[in-house]
Amino acid sequence: MKLSFHGAARSVTGSRHMVELPGQRLLLDCGLFQGRREEAHFQNRDLGFDPKSVNAVLLSHAHVDHSGALPVLPQHGFSGKVFLTRATADLTQLMLEDSARVQVSDCSYVNKKEHRKGRASVRPLYNTDDVRKLVRRFEGTRYGDLLKISPRVTASFHDAGHILGSGAIRVKYTARGNTTTILFSGDLGRSNMPILGARPRNAFTHGAIVAVVDDL
Ligand SMILES: [Zn+2]
Repeated sequence: MKLSFHGAARSVTGSRHMVELPGQRLLLDCGLFQGRREEAHFQNRDLGFDPKSVNAVLLSHAHVDHSGALPVLPQHGFSGKVFLTRATADLTQLMLEDSARVQVSDCSYVNKKEHRKGRASVRPLYNTDDVRKLVRRFEGTRYGDLLKISPRVTASFHDAGHILGSGAIRVKYTARGNTTTILFSGDLGRSNMPILGARPRNAFTHGAIVAVVDDL
C-alpha cells in the first residue's frame, strides 16, 4: 500500500490524498487549493496525479477545500464513482454550483482587465455543466453502511460532527486473510453546534489525520 498527499500537506486547503492498493487507486477528498489567484490556478489545474487512473473517490464532507476540485476529475478521464453520505451529496452539489458561478464571474472580471493589457484570457476550472457531469457519479450512503468499492475493498462513513453529512472514512483492504484498515478523519468536530450529533469531545481538526492499522 502506498499513501501520497497532493494537497493540505503543510497547509489546510486542497485536501487530496491518494491510497494505492494492488489494482486499485482511491482518492480521499479532492479539495480546492485556496490562495492567491495565480498560485491557486496552478495548484488546482494540475492535481498532481492522473485522474484517469483513479478508480473511486471517497469524500469526507462538502466544504470546498475538500470537494472543490472534484469537477476537474471527469474533464481528465475519471470515470469512477464518488462515494459520500447523502447529506454531503446534497450540500456538495450546491457548493460546487456556487463555486462554478464564482469562478466564471471572477474570470470574466480578470479577462476584462487582462485584455486591455493585451494579455491571454484565464479560464474557470469548471462550469455548472462540469458540476452536473460530476454529480451523476455520486453514490450517496448512510453512516455505518458497508460499501463494496471493489472485491477486496470496503468502506464506511462515520459521523465526524463537523458539518451536516461529514464523515470520517474507514477503508478496509483484505488479501490472503489479512486486513488492513485505513482511517481518514477528514475535519473533525465543531464548537457550539447543537444541530450536529456525535461531536467527538475535545476533538477538533481542520485538516485530516490518516491512520493505517493492520488486522483490525
Ligand atoms: Zn471542513
